[in-house]
Amino acid sequence: MHLFDRKMELVSYLEGERKKNRTLGLVPTMGALHTGHLSLVKKALSENDLVVVSIFVNPTQFDKKDDLDKYPRSLERDIDLLKTVSKKIVVFAPTVDEIYGDQVKSESYEFDGLDKVMEGEFRAGHFDGVGTIVELLLRTVAPNKAYFGEKDFQQLQIIRKMAEIKKLPYTIIGCPIEREPHGLAMSSRNERLSKTTREQAGFIHDTLQTAKSKFGTESATTIADWVKSEFKKNPVFNLEYFEITDEATLTPMLKKQDNQKYRAFIAVYADGVRLIDNLRLN
Ligand code: AMP
Repeated sequence: MHLFDRKMELVSYLEGERKKNRTLGLVPTMGALHTGHLSLVKKALSENDLVVVSIFVNPTQFDKKDDLDKYPRSLERDIDLLKTVSKKIVVFAPTVDEIYGDQVKSESYEFDGLDKVMEGEFRAGHFDGVGTIVELLLRTVAPNKAYFGEKDFQQLQIIRKMAEIKKLPYTIIGCPIEREPHGLAMSSRNERLSKTTREQAGFIHDTLQTAKSKFGTESATTIADWVKSEFKKNPVFNLEYFEITDEATLTPMLKKQDNQKYRAFIAVYADGVRLIDNLRLN
């Protein structure tokens, strides 16, 4: 397996591969890899000759220094894990300096309001940071297809918008959420939960499932009120937001329209760790 920490070395290696007519997939990650990440890697391997997995904890997408400092890092373990998956994986694990030089800052994007709600509202500058790193990775790797998880559904829609605005000719593929057996969406942050909190964290997905079952008959406001009351009763999980939005525009659902797809989004704190999840409602 090839490992690169320099952009230019990666670019020249990939040029050689492209000359051999190899198709390229890209899976951007922040490492501490789990089954959720691997599902993206496996999908990319099934559709491309070679897959670049980037591992980079991107400082510009963190709004809190403490969250950045505590973000789990396990490069050696990640590389060992990827080696067990396939030889057709190339790892790109640059330093912050290699990506940003002495200017660790984001570009400002116009995402048509997709960045003004939910994660964008609660994490200032987050999506400009995401846009900056993903645009750089896309332009560096120039993949045929790039793979992103629906776990970060708002991020996926924003990346699609960025690719459209910037006229980037790479196909963006969304992949389903991988969950722990009791329903908690897999996340690198789950490692920071205590054992008991992690065991109880199926509560988040259970709540989304019940919200979905109410969706046929109840209004978005009634469902949101019910979710808030469930969280008030639970001392372990603190609700930051719950929203039901149109999937395409991410605007809150006011009145249900035929032919529109809706999704419920949630952000929760437990043990000081921020967890997000979402579920298609119809
Ligand atoms: P991260 O390392 O958290 O930045 O995630 C890297 C990519 O993996 C993103 O596209 C995520 O949406 C995706 N991802 C993370 N967790 C999951 C999961 N549980 N299921 C599917 N995709 C995921």
